Amino acid sequence: MSHLRAAAARGLRRSGRTAASPAGKRRKGASPRRGAPAPAPAPPPARHLFSDPAEVEALRGNLLAWYDKCKRDLPWRTLAASEPDANRRAYAVWVSEIMLQQTQASPFGDLVHCLWQIPSCRAWLCLSLTCPLPFVPQKWPTLQALAQASLEEVNELWAGLGYYSRGKRLQEAARKVVSELAGQMPRTAEDLQKLLPGVGRYTAGAIASISYRQATGVVDGNVIRVLCRLRCIGADSSSPAVIDRLWDMANALVDRSRPGDFNQALMELGATVCVPRAPLCGECPVKQHCQARHRVEKELAFASQKLFGKPTPVPDVEDCGVGDCPLCPPAAEPWDSSLGVTNFPRKAAKKQPRVARTATCVLERRGCHRALEYLIVQRPSSGLLAGLWEFPSLPLAQGLQEEKQREVLADYLRAWTGWPVVAEDLRLIGEVIHIFSHIHQTYVVYSLPLDGDVTLDPALSPSRWVTEEEFHASAVSTAMKKVPAGLGPFFPAISLGSQVLKACEKQRGVESSPGKGSKRKRGAKPQGASSTRPGTQLSLRAFLQAPTSS
Ligand code: SF4
Repeated sequence: MSHLRAAAARGLRRSGRTAASPAGKRRKGASPRRGAPAPAPAPPPARHLFSDPAEVEALRGNLLAWYDKCKRDLPWRTLAASEPDANRRAYAVWVSEIMLQQTQASPFGDLVHCLWQIPSCRAWLCLSLTCPLPFVPQKWPTLQALAQASLEEVNELWAGLGYYSRGKRLQEAARKVVSELAGQMPRTAEDLQKLLPGVGRYTAGAIASISYRQATGVVDGNVIRVLCRLRCIGADSSSPAVIDRLWDMANALVDRSRPGDFNQALMELGATVCVPRAPLCGECPVKQHCQARHRVEKELAFASQKLFGKPTPVPDVEDCGVGDCPLCPPAAEPWDSSLGVTNFPRKAAKKQPRVARTATCVLERRGCHRALEYLIVQRPSSGLLAGLWEFPSLPLAQGLQEEKQREVLADYLRAWTGWPVVAEDLRLIGEVIHIFSHIHQTYVVYSLPLDGDVTLDPALSPSRWVTEEEFHASAVSTAMKKVPAGLGPFFPAISLGSQVLKACEKQRGVESSPGKGSKRKRGAKPQGASSTRPGTQLSLRAFLQAPTSS
């Protein structure tokens, strides 16, 4: 879903231009006549559109009636409905949308989206979300409060959610609203997208429709799935042409009087009924408008009549049949009867993540009162995990032997600390695997106890010695928090990452199939989703609620 949402957002950046269409594609060798207007793109075949106003009305009514009855009681919905101040309303929706993006990688999103599926967990979840979480400071109830926070504070509270640049951009945008827009949130989707850093087409549409009742659609992964099934769209759903069509469709479909509810209903339908693998078509409030379901029903009827030897006409279930329909499945991947409605949507094969290896060293010393302290350094202010803290780390060339790894790491530490580090003193702890959205990252973890004082070059990255407690409270990425797990007793409060365990088991000679731990199972939480320590996980409530007066 995350990638689809990103693709959808990219599609919006092209707002202002009409949807790309294959009809607009130039044939090889053909060139348009200079000065001649480009031919208007051919409209897609009717089966892929909502061209009947009566059907659109019926679909809106059915969907909203279902939403009124079945919607989940989520905290930001209550806030958006009850908060009289438009700026605070928009701010709450904005923060919730940013947190819920990349839901597969977000513990908060997983919490809401996964646990809500289990009836016995609903009460618990509801209770948790309505209770102030005692271990998280209550922060930033307004965008003015967020604008005044330091990036360090934002990073600290955001730690565990992943996609740290989002927290940073959220704060940048809040500062812009306060300093350049007199504290007033932009009031339309177009202005929100144009004026606020980090606000893409989807987020702008969600804020404007939910907070200001602007009749504008939204397209995220759930909406893509629902619309592709409703209109049998089988072309690559992450392609710009299809994304543009889906935005057109969402804008045309959105209910004019209840746009925010309609958009949330469409997303809710995708999250709870029209789910990726086993959609509950029998319970679907818009099943009578669903082309994918019609197709399945026709096939079933045809198959059963054939079984009983009844003469039946061949069902009208082919794709558009013109061979170059921009929205039908490609000829090489025709409809697969065994998949039913889950033939839609389709995506082009995903690009494999880049493989990267990094040597990481946990430098430890005895500090005040003989307490153990660990050295952490701050990453650069731009790029991956910008501004976050980590143990000293060094990217490794692929295929480097262990002996060589030690040597390059020792060289690096020697130059950096001025300490006479020798490769043999570095103790290999194991490997930690972390999956970023586009990188399969392996941290090769070493430790090195130091007996004396180390004078770090102040010209290099900021660094500091921290106790275990301070480490937990620092703006450290989820990936880096997996690292100390290998140190066992020194960091007892950290839940052990499975990869570290496997690595440690390997160290101790326990059998473990290589790479097994890095595989993501269907429906399993992505590696990055695990929160390493509950106390550092940020919730929307924690983000928005004012501190209780003492
Ligand atoms: Fe999705 Fe089935 Fe509803 Fe169609 S009928 S929208 S496939 S749940």
